[in-house]
Amino acid sequence: MPIFEYKCNKCGHTMEFLEKSSTHRKHICEQCKSPDLQKLLSTFAAGNSSSSTSQSNDSCPTGTCPMS
Ligand SMILES: [Zn+2]
Repeated sequence: MPIFEYKCNKCGHTMEFLEKSSTHRKHICEQCKSPDLQKLLSTFAAGNSSSSTSQSNDSCPTGTCPMS
């Protein structure tokens, strides 16, 4: 069962939720109860990163990467 990590946009608290593929529940922050959560990349979905600042030393080796 996949575990998804969420970060609260209100208080910055990070938490993990177990998610079944069939259910699509709305999660809330377990600290401030805010529904404004941002889904973080799980370890299962690593490799297709859209963040450009977190891994600066792992950029395109050829320098022709369109993401840069
Ligand atoms: Zn919160």
